[in-house]
Amino acid sequence: MTAYHRPRSLDEALAIRAETGALPLAGGTDIHPLRTARAAWGEPWTMPVLDLSAVPGLDGIEEDATGWRIGARTSWTAIAEAALPPLFDGLRAAAREVGGRQVQNRGTIAGNLVTASPAGDGIPNLLALEAEVELASRDATRRLPVAEFVTGYRATALAPEEIVTALHVPRLDHARGRFEKLGARRYLVISIAMAAAVIAMEGDRVAEARIAIGACSPVARRLPALEAALVGQHPSEMASVPQPAHLTPLAPIDDIRATAAYRTDAALVLLRDLLAGFTA
Ligand SMILES: Cc1cc2nc3c(=O)[nH]c(=O)nc-3n(C[C@H](O)[C@H](O)[C@H](O)COP(=O)(O)OP(=O)(O)OC[C@H]3O[C@@H](n4cnc5c(N)ncnc54)[C@H](O)[C@@H]3O)c2cc1C
Repeated sequence: MTAYHRPRSLDEALAIRAETGALPLAGGTDIHPLRTARAAWGEPWTMPVLDLSAVPGLDGIEEDATGWRIGARTSWTAIAEAALPPLFDGLRAAAREVGGRQVQNRGTIAGNLVTASPAGDGIPNLLALEAEVELASRDATRRLPVAEFVTGYRATALAPEEIVTALHVPRLDHARGRFEKLGARRYLVISIAMAAAVIAMEGDRVAEARIAIGACSPVARRLPALEAALVGQHPSEMASVPQPAHLTPLAPIDDIRATAAYRTDAALVLLRDLLAGFTA
């Protein structure tokens, strides 16, 4: 039988994690399908479970002088409905596209990040927001940029004794985010390609551009050459800037959802649409 822990404090949760290596459980929308699929193939789930639902302090979004702290257990619905500035428009758009309403009500931002799927809709947005992950263990708390936290295909820098407690998003003035996702159909879809952007303006010119593409490489990637080319542009010129050469950090694969060549073409079209949308 699987051991099931439901601690009532973070200290207790961290002690259980350190002593048993139990798997943190948030909304369960990634864990339960995996568990069920394994059981169907005759591999019963034996890993102890650390249910985080009764641990206080992991929910909600707080703002201070430096930026925002998003609790690890904050659901996609809470993010979509939060009163956040335009900087978060991309993340909030992603929140409205993660599965259907039931999945958005249960699924959490930290669960999406720790699963580290190339098709995880939160990750390109967190990269464009230059978010940091807050990681707690019994001995210490540390912060890592999301770009360093996600280390590979479904792989992260989460240590066996750690729990994600929050995401931190730094302030960026006069900035707005956008997100576009392409799948095989309009709703309830796993991405073939997705693009997230944060654009900061100074007057009528781009002062800073952050662009990330997901589902076109094992880990979502920023596009530094495109970001540099966008600086100084007027928003009405941005859609003509992306060129195939800007996509060199990507390494798309052929799979059942799309070919690599299709993904590359789609990423370019998505980028142009995404940037055109900043004039709206
Ligand atoms: C029908 C369906 C549709 C979906 N559609 C999409 C989609 O369109 N886009 C998309 O990106 N995803 C989609 N998902 C996947 C999933 O809903 C999201 O990734 C969700 O954000 C996962 O969050 P969770 O809280 O449910 O994670 P859980 O299943 O609870 O956990 C996922 C992983 O994160 C770890 N974890 C969770 N919280 C913590 C923490 N605080 N500290 C350390 N580790 C932690 C768990 O141990 C586990 O490894 C879909 C899932 C389903 C079932």
